[in-house]
Amino acid sequence: MSEENLQSMSDLVSLCKSRGFIFQSSEIYGGLGSCWDMGPLGVELKNNIKNAWWRSMTFRDDVDGVDAAILMHPLVWKASGHVDNFTDPLVDCKSCKGRFRADQIDLKAPCPTCKAKDSFTDIRNFNLMFTTHMGAVQETAAEIYLRPETAQGIFVNFLNVQSTMRRKLPFGIAQIGKAFRNEITPGNFIFRMREFEQMEMQYFIKPGTQAEAMEMWKETRFQWHLDMGLRKEKLRFHKHEALAHYADAAFDIEYEFAHGWGEMEGIHSRTDFDLKQHMEFSKKNLMYVDQMDGNKKFIPYVLETSVGADRSLLAILSDAYRVENKGDAEKERTVMRFKPSLAPIKAAIMPLMKKPELEGTADKLLRELQKDFKCDYDTAGSIGKRYRRQDEAGTPACITVDFDTLTDQAVTVRHRDTMVQERIALDKVKMYLKDTFNL
Ligand code: ATP
Repeated sequence: MSEENLQSMSDLVSLCKSRGFIFQSSEIYGGLGSCWDMGPLGVELKNNIKNAWWRSMTFRDDVDGVDAAILMHPLVWKASGHVDNFTDPLVDCKSCKGRFRADQIDLKAPCPTCKAKDSFTDIRNFNLMFTTHMGAVQETAAEIYLRPETAQGIFVNFLNVQSTMRRKLPFGIAQIGKAFRNEITPGNFIFRMREFEQMEMQYFIKPGTQAEAMEMWKETRFQWHLDMGLRKEKLRFHKHEALAHYADAAFDIEYEFAHGWGEMEGIHSRTDFDLKQHMEFSKKNLMYVDQMDGNKKFIPYVLETSVGADRSLLAILSDAYRVENKGDAEKERTVMRFKPSLAPIKAAIMPLMKKPELEGTADKLLRELQKDFKCDYDTAGSIGKRYRRQDEAGTPACITVDFDTLTDQAVTVRHRDTMVQERIALDKVKMYLKDTFNL
């Protein structure tokens, strides 16, 4: 059997649309630049990824979760440095009006789009934050921002969480939520979006322990991506040589996407920059009192792990994509080899024919399995066609109810990856799926 990995992003984009994973935002109006909607399968898969992250980060004895508001006090973004520094250098081509990031093109070369020479404007710094207005009357209302990262919602709640949960260092706060960036050069499907979701955790530590914390979280987070089923050879660390103003060390976990290696997660040692800034701007005391060490007072350091839920989704979609027996009209199939616990649909129930006696049994099985898993019920077309559809959805098991079922009270379970078929007693199907696929 021949097997081919994902060759181009456009193959994935078309599968995602045709199977209902991801649609363009506002598609019937021609779309909205770099905004995407999760379809029925996309939302299930993404929820499963977010749940896996949430469990791995908060089902531990040193991390709590929060869900902070997207809209925050405008001073938060002054304190964090986003108002002054969250900018990209921008140039326009005077000839074709194309817009580029000055750090991504050669300004001495002709315009990459229209090839005009000496056509770029001067570099301007463009702030990536979206603004909106709070209050009923726009003119008098204060301008506020849509958060460009979830981290600040964690920093401003440091004291609330520490005191209510009676936490001692080291401890972490985790959050999943939407972030917004008015990216100049978005693209590559959901790799760079203007509205996206982040899964972030800030681990508060004693100054001086950041190297140790970095090692622990690098290992923990790399392992998580492997646990999501990604192939090891498609993952690597990238060490930042040039550091952001708040960091004293930084690594990315990169994945080899169809368009090349790209950042999926950032692991940053952020020193005491954030809490110090919020202490200064809010005038609230955010010092930690170390009762284990003579009530010494200090501002905790922070080790951050920040992964894009959508980039993780893109990596998992890309990694799972396989075309088997390409070019063989009989045997070619595209199959999404998701780890079964992440698969949007766990089982598809298929009565062999549209006959009331088969449908009755199939319906009863569906009701039973649906108590525990997301299932699909498919009666349309030949069994072969139905299998192909489920392969593209990444459904681990297809369950056929046939005429023998009526006498032997058993069904055929067909496995997505091996296509092996097994006969399983109706009353054992649920346990069988749970055991076989670790659900
Ligand atoms: P990049 O260099 O790709 O712009 P970044 O270094 O600005 O990313 P961070 O600010 O560290 O990214 O954000 C943490 C994570 O959030 C990234 O690793 C990525 O997974 C995700 N992320 C950031 N920007 C976007 C975006 N525009 N669309 C989708 N995900 C994003």
